[in-house]
Amino acid sequence: MTRKEELAHNLGVVQEKIHKVAQSSGRNPSEISLIVVTKTFPVSDAEILYELGIRDMGENRDEEGALKSEQLPIDVKWHFQGQVQGRKIRSISGWADVVHSLDSTAHAQKFDVENENKVEEFFIQINLEPDRSDRGGIPATELGSFAQFLQQRTLLKVVGLMTVAPLSRDAGGAFVQLKALQSVLLESFPAATALSMGMSNDFEAAITAGATHLRIGSSILGSRVLPA
Ligand SMILES: *Cc1c(COP(=O)(O)O)cnc(C)c1O
Repeated sequence: MTRKEELAHNLGVVQEKIHKVAQSSGRNPSEISLIVVTKTFPVSDAEILYELGIRDMGENRDEEGALKSEQLPIDVKWHFQGQVQGRKIRSISGWADVVHSLDSTAHAQKFDVENENKVEEFFIQINLEPDRSDRGGIPATELGSFAQFLQQRTLLKVVGLMTVAPLSRDAGGAFVQLKALQSVLLESFPAATALSMGMSNDFEAAITAGATHLRIGSSILGSRVLPA
């Protein structure tokens, strides 16, 4: 099997699952975006995915995203979903179209002042595991004040919430919790109805809970050898 056949097969399996779960949860599959997470995989894989029709790709590291985005056609939408580092914001703003991992007021202000800001949409990342502050995301209890800050003090376009399901608990429960937090965000951003949740191991539960953006890597590309 060539790499293209392998990726086409895996992609087909994932797309069919998304379709089925969406339909059985009474959701329209067309309102669910699949972001293929290409992190640690070579540019050649991203090019194959492009040939297979994929236009949304996700990366966790600035250097890698900058490199891949330079080599792929212009109509790929690049999603940054790694932990943001302040000193990388200028560079991330140069290639990412969507940032899924906004979790600090200082970073928000920095994104806001980057004039060449390419980033069109931001998700606020929520950490649903409050005792693990190393994992990225703000605690759910801070969402109201964080959203208010973004609305009043920046021009960033906030479109929704993002989370990574905690390892310590049932993913489905975590996704239902993220969905419930939407009402808090909508007080500041009435149009911010997107929910970025669901990865290779838990995307079915995420669809059932209302995900609009799935971030899927290993189910399509295989297991990662290099650390993310
Ligand atoms: C790596 C990563 C993914 C994709 O994970 P898979 O388990 O390979 O599907 C999604 N979201 C984030 C934030 C990631 O770091």
